[in-house]
Amino acid sequence: MRYHISTALILQEFAKIGGECPLCEIRSIVEKNVVEQYLGEAVMVVDVRYKVNEKGFCKEHFDMLFEGQSKLALALQTYTRMNVLKEKLKEPSSFRAASKLGADILASSSTCVICDTVEDHMQRYYKTVAELYLSEEDFRDLLGYGKGFCLGHYAELLKNSSYAGSKTKEYLKTLAAIENDGFDALQSELKWFCDRHDFRNRDKDLGSAKDALPRVRRKLYGKK
Ligand SMILES: [Zn+2]
Ligand SMILES: [Zn+2]
Repeated sequence: MRYHISTALILQEFAKIGGECPLCEIRSIVEKNVVEQYLGEAVMVVDVRYKVNEKGFCKEHFDMLFEGQSKLALALQTYTRMNVLKEKLKEPSSFRAASKLGADILASSSTCVICDTVEDHMQRYYKTVAELYLSEEDFRDLLGYGKGFCLGHYAELLKNSSYAGSKTKEYLKTLAAIENDGFDALQSELKWFCDRHDFRNRDKDLGSAKDALPRVRRKLYGKK
């Protein structure tokens, strides 16, 4: 399955002020598209079916597929995936074999063809963000207005920062500046959330700190 990396999507999500992480929003959109593909055209493609049989779906993506348009598409793919899993249910001949098989069953229940596909696309987005920084002056300005990223996506941008070429140093400076500003602002709100519980502050307004914990959750762990 090919996926077009949309610079328009990057510009659209980075232009939204107020979210905790534009890359989490992009990931949600990409994930939704990939799930739809696995309920449509992918069911008929031989090499895609082979990958589904080999890796299956994680429970989150199974649930997303189940909520989607075609129960039949999910059932067909799951039926043949179950043939692969059934192979692992043979009676082990010894403790040694049982232990190995136990590890194998656990490993195969944590693989997911949709997680892998989304991750492939996201790796290209991390690179494209850096390339846009190099080539588009407007994007350099836009990035500077951001509130930073969740920690996981910030780490990915750092890892791919060399794609900003001759502007890598400047790119890193901007990334670090917005990430620190966003992090500090959120930590201050969390401090006020804590301090507000002091009886001396009981009449003061909690203000934007009232949802500080859910926003800290998104900053530290990304969007659910
Ligand atoms: Zn994120
Ligand atoms: Zn998954």
